[in-house]
Order: sequence, then C-alpha cells, then structure tokens
Amino acid sequence: IVNMKGMNKYFGPLHVLKEIDLTVAKGEVVVVIGASGSGKSTLIRCVNGLEEFESGELTVDGHPLAPRSGNPQSLAEIRKEVGMVFQQFNLFPHLTVKQNIMLAPKKVKDASQSEASEIAERLLNRVGIGNQADKYPTHLSGGQQQRVAIARALAMDPRLMLFDEPTSALDPEMIGEVLDVMRELAKEGMTMMVVTHEMGFAREVADRVIYIHEGRIVEEGKPADVFDNPQNERTQAFLSRVL
Ligand code: ATP
Ligand code: MG
Repeated sequence: IVNMKGMNKYFGPLHVLKEIDLTVAKGEVVVVIGASGSGKSTLIRCVNGLEEFESGELTVDGHPLAPRSGNPQSLAEIRKEVGMVFQQFNLFPHLTVKQNIMLAPKKVKDASQSEASEIAERLLNRVGIGNQADKYPTHLSGGQQQRVAIARALAMDPRLMLFDEPTSALDPEMIGEVLDVMRELAKEGMTMMVVTHEMGFAREVADRVIYIHEGRIVEEGKPADVFDNPQNERTQAFLSRVL
C-alpha cells in the first residue's frame, strides 16, 4: 500500500532522509524506531504528503506523489485514505468529542448529520469512550483525548493509519489504554505505520521493525530479530540505551 524507492528529503542543506526504500503491505504493521532527530517523523509525514521530498518515488495506495511539487490530485486522494495521529491530540476545543469526530465524514465523505452521528458513536464505543461523546476535549484525560483523536482519524475509513509517537505526551498510567486501542486496530487488520518509543508494543504488535539512523534505514526485520539479534552496531547501541 506504501511504496518508497530511493527517496531523499532535505531541509535546506540538511539531508534528512537518505535513499529510503520501504514498502508496507496491506494489513502490515510497521514500527519505526530511531534516535531523536533521525528522521522518523519526516518519513511518515512524507507518506501523507505533509512533507515534500526532493527525489525518488513514493506511491500510496496506487497514487503516485512526485518529488517537490507533489501531485495535487494524488494528494487529495491520499489525504482521504490515510489517517494520522500525532503526539499532540489537536482536537478542536470548541467542539464536543462527538462533533470533533463528525467533522471529517460530513466534510470529506458527504455524510448526512445522522450518518456522521452514527459513525461517531460507533467509533467512540470502539475506542472505549462511548460515554464521553458530549464532553469537550479539555474535560477528558490525555489518554481519552488521544483515543478521540484515533476515532477521528478512523472516521475517514482510512486504508492506512500513521501514528507519530501517539503516547509520548501522556502520563505513564494512560499509555496502556491508547496502546490497547492500537493493538486492537492491528488485530482487526488495519495497515499501520507507527513511530514509537514503546519497545514492548513494537515487539508484540509489529510485523516489521525499521531502525533509522541519521536518515537512513540501517536495519529492518521481524521484531524478534531486530530486538534480540540486531546486526548493525548502531541498532545495537540504540537498543542498549532504550531497552
Ligand atoms: P524525534 O524523535 O525527536 O521526534 P525524529 O526522528 O522524528 O525525531 P524528525 O522530526 O524527522 O526526527 O527530524 C529529522 C531532522 O530534520 C532533525 O535534524 C530536525 O531538526 C530536522 N527538521 C525537522 N523538521 C524540520 C523543519 N521543518 N525544518 C528544518 N529542519 C527540520
Ligand atoms: Mg518525531
């Protein structure tokens, strides 16, 4: 569903992504790990066109994105098909939880008020907060807000979900509830790219782990192989710091 070939990305003189080759198959869960500043966020932001890249190829669900200019038509399609969840929840504070979720289906999918309402209720139940629908985001805990953000992304009925450190801003006791929702999604067959420092989650849920060092994929494999038997000395050093 995602196909990157020889992709390079610069921020001015800074070469942030180097010759990235990466494919993600339908239903696959790919976890991206690496040190701060290694390019993890930039990599997944390229997938839904939040960042442009300078050279190489990128196709998302059959829609090609060209270097630099992107491709407006592909971009529009990709944005409809790819859900993204960030470290910060980015919910609209003046809308209730339910209204936050109804927004996208109404705007992008032309859903009626009652269809959007039904979607929102179903998804809120799915992430375990059906009883919070009429509250405002600031009245929820961080873990609950992040589950709303996940429900909001799911309301687009995405074919791919991107997560960029979804639990990094949460108090420790709330990390589990968000990871549980992600684990369920993975079980149900959602295709996911996840940047996380939660190595336990990566080991358990990932089909494949990718380690990025200074903008380059230096190691990639099944979680058991990458965690228990890393081949690259950079990966070994990183894992010895975080495990
Ligand atoms: P972290 O774990 O801290 O989130 P990361 O692996 O996600 O790090 P990126 O955010 O992808 O790293 O950043 C990769 C590099 O690109 C870093 O050196 C960062 O300073 C730089 N960078 C990121 N965004 C921009 C930007 N908009 N303009 C210029 N440089 C940027
Ligand atoms: Mg990042």
